[in-house]
Amino acid sequence: MMIEKESVVLRSQPATNSQAIDSIDINSNVNVLSERNGWLRVRYKGTSEGWIPKWLLDNDNLVTDQNLAAHLLVASSIYSEQTTDSQQLADIDAGTYLIVNFERNGWVQVVYENQYGYIPTSSVELIHQDAIPESVPDPESTEESLPDEMTQEELEEAERLVIVRQENQAFLSAPDLYSDIIYTPSINQRFELIDVTTGSDETEFYLVEDETGIRGYIESRIAALGNDSLNHVGTTNPGSLADATIMIDAGHGGEDSGAISLDNITYEKDVTLRTAEILQEKLEAAGATVLQTRSTDEFVDLDERTILSNEANVDAFLSLHYDSSPVPDWHGTTTYYFHEDDFDLADNINQQLAQFELPNNNVVFGNYHVLRENNRPSVLLELGYMSNSTDIDYIRSQEYHDHITELIVAGLENYYNH
Ligand SMILES: [Zn+2]
Repeated sequence: MMIEKESVVLRSQPATNSQAIDSIDINSNVNVLSERNGWLRVRYKGTSEGWIPKWLLDNDNLVTDQNLAAHLLVASSIYSEQTTDSQQLADIDAGTYLIVNFERNGWVQVVYENQYGYIPTSSVELIHQDAIPESVPDPESTEESLPDEMTQEELEEAERLVIVRQENQAFLSAPDLYSDIIYTPSINQRFELIDVTTGSDETEFYLVEDETGIRGYIESRIAALGNDSLNHVGTTNPGSLADATIMIDAGHGGEDSGAISLDNITYEKDVTLRTAEILQEKLEAAGATVLQTRSTDEFVDLDERTILSNEANVDAFLSLHYDSSPVPDWHGTTTYYFHEDDFDLADNINQQLAQFELPNNNVVFGNYHVLRENNRPSVLLELGYMSNSTDIDYIRSQEYHDHITELIVAGLENYYNH
């Protein structure tokens, strides 16, 4: 059969959280070997064999098998296992939307009231999570979710919940990036935290257990804990940029030089301070109140930076950085956010950065201390690679600093005006 969809992922099992084997080019042919529970077992390019979801091919509104949500077409029970003989955890009304962790063999795994459960895929319409209509907040349920209303038991449960926040990352058999991959978790998949450990190259890992009892490792960089955003303020609504207080955080400083250019001339700590000064001028010209975490070449520890932001109750915290990579070709700008509520701020700024001369690497989840521990809306901007020969020429020019700061201001204007 012909695959008339872009980049359909061929998987090792009939499950959206199983390992990706290959990506199928649009308008290429596959041989269907069998069909089971909404999945097709196919052979691609004569060699690779695996599973593709038939429900994805048949659904014009879906472009990927990731970030799924279930819209209940009929009232259904949530079952404790992938069988209708298992315990019924709850009854859900038709029309309800639930976030899907994964779809496997004709069942979707969903989270309902802090429990995992399963619903037959045949009872739901699968949609992208972005397509869930925004609902009118139910006053009762928002009250329940307030941190001070959480019971001790719920807080302890949140502390032990690991949520995967990046796509196509590995669930590993050992705390080592080169160890065997158990499978590729879906975005927002939840695990139970067993332990935190550091691998041989200083990478931090969470030892976690999935809902079937499989234990393995996940890099902490790509995940959030269930209690990480409890004290975070989503929006502050100053009304306009002119009424907002913005904290600029020039990355690194003092003994911490940050990235250094390949010719050892340019230090990240100096460039971030230069960008911060120009950005302050432009934001003040737009009427905003501006605070800096540092205004000289001094060392400020990461905790101090977030404490400054939290104590000043700022409307936005912008951490400025310049990237570096051992891969010389990596270049361009990237916007990081940690708290889900901060995606909108990140996206507004990044839409502007994407118009810049340098390529843009999109908005990406990043578990950075200054974002995670920040209770205020916060983003971290990587404004080009010190290790790339094209980027470094830009980074050293005055026009670059003038232009990039203009774009950041425009992004904030858009964020506060919509
Ligand atoms: Zn940096």
